[in-house]
Amino acid sequence: MTAVGSRTGLLDADLVRGKVFSGGWTTSHGGTAEITEPATGEPLITVGLANRHDIRAAAASAAQQQPAWADTPAVERAAVLRRAAQLLTEHRAEVARWLVREGGAVPGKAEAETGSTLDELWVASSLPTHPHGHLLPSDRGQHSTARRVPLGVVGVISPWNFPLLLATRAVAPALALGNAVVLKPDVNTPVSGGLLLAALFEQAGLPSGVLHVLPGDAGPGAALTTDPDVAMIAFTGSTAVGRQVGAAAGGALKRMSLELGGNNALIVLDDADVVAASSAGAFGSFFHQGQICMTAGRHVVLADVADEYLDRLTQRAAALRVGDPWTTGADLGPLINERQLQRVDQLVRDTVAAGATLHTGGTHEGLFYRPTVLGGVSADMPAWTEEIFGPVAPVVVVRDEDEAVAVANNTDYGLVAAVQTGDTARGAALAERLRTSIVHVNAQTIDDNAYVPFGGRGGSGNGSRYGALHSWDEFTQWRWLTSRDVPAAYPF
Ligand code: NAD
Repeated sequence: MTAVGSRTGLLDADLVRGKVFSGGWTTSHGGTAEITEPATGEPLITVGLANRHDIRAAAASAAQQQPAWADTPAVERAAVLRRAAQLLTEHRAEVARWLVREGGAVPGKAEAETGSTLDELWVASSLPTHPHGHLLPSDRGQHSTARRVPLGVVGVISPWNFPLLLATRAVAPALALGNAVVLKPDVNTPVSGGLLLAALFEQAGLPSGVLHVLPGDAGPGAALTTDPDVAMIAFTGSTAVGRQVGAAAGGALKRMSLELGGNNALIVLDDADVVAASSAGAFGSFFHQGQICMTAGRHVVLADVADEYLDRLTQRAAALRVGDPWTTGADLGPLINERQLQRVDQLVRDTVAAGATLHTGGTHEGLFYRPTVLGGVSADMPAWTEEIFGPVAPVVVVRDEDEAVAVANNTDYGLVAAVQTGDTARGAALAERLRTSIVHVNAQTIDDNAYVPFGGRGGSGNGSRYGALHSWDEFTQWRWLTSRDVPAAYPF
């Protein structure tokens, strides 16, 4: 086995073995977890796990350290973010290796994720030096200002599918704006979802105790959502867990940002370039084995082009290579774990049993699931109604544009949609009728970067917005301050 971390790299695998990051690399009280490579089952590293007492201690320590961090001059906070970006650039290959081996990413996905994470760090590094307040009108001899102040401690709970990026997109702006952070990454990817970030910020000179990284499962996650020292929860994960997190954090009157699941429609109109549309469809459904919130989970195709679209999509799916992404140069790697594999397989089986046609795929070897195309799907079948989170492309054929809109909108989710058409004005008009926060015309559904508004509606989240200026709304709150030279006079 090639070592993933090393003494000379970003993450010293010997130093962090069995540890969490909370005021330095320390032992925790939730036991340890052996992290294995999904492609081979080989052990990669043993990490420490947090329990709720570790979360309590981390939040208390973060609350203690936060005021000094908020008072640190803006240029110094910006410099920490820039050094973290510089370190990530230097250790890019090592980080990508973890994403491949711990998360089952193909190298292209790992590279893209590392690049997007860098963007998040660079963009966040500009935030501290933005103007951050207003001089307000006042007719009573007052000096009246509104200023944005940090929230305090931000609790970040993140998933395994884009572990580094989805943690960083909350951690980096929260820190940049003067908050302390307690990050709880998912146990499937504790290294790429957290320990790498801890190492980056430690080496970038972030003061001890401002960032805590505590891998763990639902227990410590739930503890974070109600911790008295945590002012905000930034959660990315499934809709079912998001509901629980929302109820708990809402009950504790915390600010929250919920980035949840998706079941995203890719609509192919009758004037579309079907070759291009089928390529978009294949990438949208199969990139990273379909394990992306923005995955094209529903293909809505107008009848005139449906046969050709299904044929081309099937050919593309059948030609994709599935295998160990570290050693084989495959197009698709493994699913993250056995539970996810069983879920995907069951959804496909149930959908075929309900009358759908399996055009290709539907089989697996170990955690490697073949890209799957399902035709003859109707809008009540399981692979249509549920977020699959696997490499499965269900296709529904519709009569016309109105039916396409009705079918696409017939879901609680509302993250992203895509429209393929030969007429961009038609695509833009149709986009206005779709109940999602993001629409792409003549592209597929997966796209994001550090300086766009990103977030879902309905079952996909509470419309939170990450990126550039929107981070100020997320991770700070307004303070109104008045002062006057002469004390105010009152009637009593
Ligand atoms: P998940 O909801 O199972 O877990 C997400 C995180 O929540 C993990 O860290 C987990 O340990 C933690 N958690 C679990 N139960 C908890 C509880 N009761 N209280 C607090 N924390 C708890 O999601 P997952 O399987 O890791 O990720 C896949 C899901 O995430 C998919 O639904 C996907 O669409 C969604 N996702 C959304 C976005 C987005 O930006 N909208 C991005 C990526 C993934």
